[in-house]
Amino acid sequence: MPIDNGVVGEDYRIRRALATVEYLTARKSKVIIASHLGRPKGKSDPKYSLKPVASRLSEVVRANIHFVDDCIGDKVSQAISKMNNGDVLLLENLRFYAGEEACDEKFSAQLASLADVYVNDAFGTSHRRHASTYGMAMHFKYKLSGFLVNQELEHLTKIRDGPDRPFTVIVGGVKIKDKLGALRHLIDRADKVLVGGCVAYTFLASKGVSVGDSLVENESMSWAAEVLSKQGHRIILPTDHIVSTSADDVAGIRLVSGEIPKGLKGFDIGRDTARRYSKEIANGTKTAFWNGPMGLFEKEQFSHGTIDVAKSLALAFHRGATTIVGGGDSIAALKVADISEREVTHISTGGGASLEYIGGEELPGVTVLTERNAKLF
Ligand code: ADP
Ligand code: MG
Repeated sequence: MPIDNGVVGEDYRIRRALATVEYLTARKSKVIIASHLGRPKGKSDPKYSLKPVASRLSEVVRANIHFVDDCIGDKVSQAISKMNNGDVLLLENLRFYAGEEACDEKFSAQLASLADVYVNDAFGTSHRRHASTYGMAMHFKYKLSGFLVNQELEHLTKIRDGPDRPFTVIVGGVKIKDKLGALRHLIDRADKVLVGGCVAYTFLASKGVSVGDSLVENESMSWAAEVLSKQGHRIILPTDHIVSTSADDVAGIRLVSGEIPKGLKGFDIGRDTARRYSKEIANGTKTAFWNGPMGLFEKEQFSHGTIDVAKSLALAFHRGATTIVGGGDSIAALKVADISEREVTHISTGGGASLEYIGGEELPGVTVLTERNAKLF
């Protein structure tokens, strides 16, 4: 979730975690919450501290919230021993340890030693085989899913197994490798894939279209070219772009058609592309799944393509389509576009996870669970 100057911005993912947390605190469990924020690369970094999340939790959860600035070791054990039944303890960012993403066995065991029961309610991280989503679960007799994970799976399974057609996928954002990987399977299931954000530049570059200095993923280039040659009829790419020399060069912002000249970077889809995508989404789509903003929407100048897509999705919803929006930044973009949570069929807390799941892949964080019913306790 976005955190600015130590304050949580869009807190959708926190609110969605409340059902499980409060179910457990109401039954006098001691709830230890383990989570991550951003990509601190295995080192402690105050920028990615979860402390602001503890503050937000204490405003919304009906329980005593404690925070400890580590996630394993003596300090954490001591904090747990001081908890009363029904209290909540938030641990510091799991990714301050390299063992988290590496699914290190020792780190997993250390995490597991803190608790008696394991509950996964982190749907957005369930596509990762990490210590918290996979490794530590192995140490528990009871590995349960929380209410959020259950609800996500219910909605997304419908889209995976029998979407009303036409089924349109809209994909953008910066996590290019993740998204391209997930698209691998999803393209076959969709009728149309509208591509924006940095994901689009890799596709365009793979066709030999100049994208200037825009962000691309070189490793994925040959795969992208192959996909375009085989399934290109389903994939729609931007034909014009909002560009500048850098995100801060507001005076240098231009709209270009076709190729992006050297020295310039694409920061949003252009007006023609936005109109085309809006039409595709609002006119006739029966199911739409969106993950990843069309541009650097946090800056007003580069937000228009994303806002147009968000508004068209709301329109499609009001016309009876099933719409799903997934991903932390895409959820934040809905707010920027003034689209309320009621104007979307389902807002998924997972971007990459939901893309992979709808594409038909197994999520390690879900397959590891033995019980899909947190009400066991
Ligand atoms: P999500 O969180 O919805 O899964 P990502 O994390 O993959 O999406 O990507 C979101 C980020 O991508 C946003 O911060 C947005 O500013 C950025 N982004 C999208 N398009 C561009 C672009 N053309 N140039 C730079 N950043 C972009
Ligand atoms: Mg994101």
